[in-house]
Amino acid sequence: MPNPKRRHSKRRTSTRRAHDGLNIPQMAECPNCHQKIRAHRACPNCGKYKGREVIEVVEA
Ligand SMILES: [Zn+2]
Repeated sequence: MPNPKRRHSKRRTSTRRAHDGLNIPQMAECPNCHQKIRAHRACPNCGKYKGREVIEVVEA
């Protein structure tokens, strides 16, 4: 089995992991109820996507 000859420095490890953070999802405004929603997804508040109702909204 191939094994690393030398251990990587702490800097090399942390430099690689600098891109590992989570990012905030893109938010867009619903044209129907003006709530902040995920872009390219049906609105969870009013159930509409591109002007027509695509999902049933169940009141809790
Ligand atoms: Zn909506």
